[in-house]
Amino acid sequence: MAFKDDFFRITDHIKQKSEEFIDIAQTKISASKIEYEINKKKNQLGDLVYNQYKENNLDSEAVAELCEEIKQLEIQLKAQVPEENKCKQCNSVNPHNAKFCAHCGAVLYELEKY
Ligand SMILES: [Zn+2]
Repeated sequence: MAFKDDFFRITDHIKQKSEEFIDIAQTKISASKIEYEINKKKNQLGDLVYNQYKENNLDSEAVAELCEEIKQLEIQLKAQVPEENKCKQCNSVNPHNAKFCAHCGAVLYELEKY
């Protein structure tokens, strides 16, 4: 039956689209989680260095350890977020979290398809 075929074709199409959307959403969530972790660790680093300074007991090994953790998180973040968020309409490069092109206003992330 033609109706049934169309129905399943459309359903499959919607299902596929929502799976793509979930992929994008999950990437964004984990990227902001990593950013949050980086900021938290940078705060810890500040506290650590300042407390050590105050007690006149600078321990560069503990500082380096924390710095290394931050560095690893930054590497993870870079792998998550594409370097460039290039507009398909005008080729302008936008910030990774931009939803619209700052130059021509086109929708980034192909949201117009949903
Ligand atoms: Zn543009």
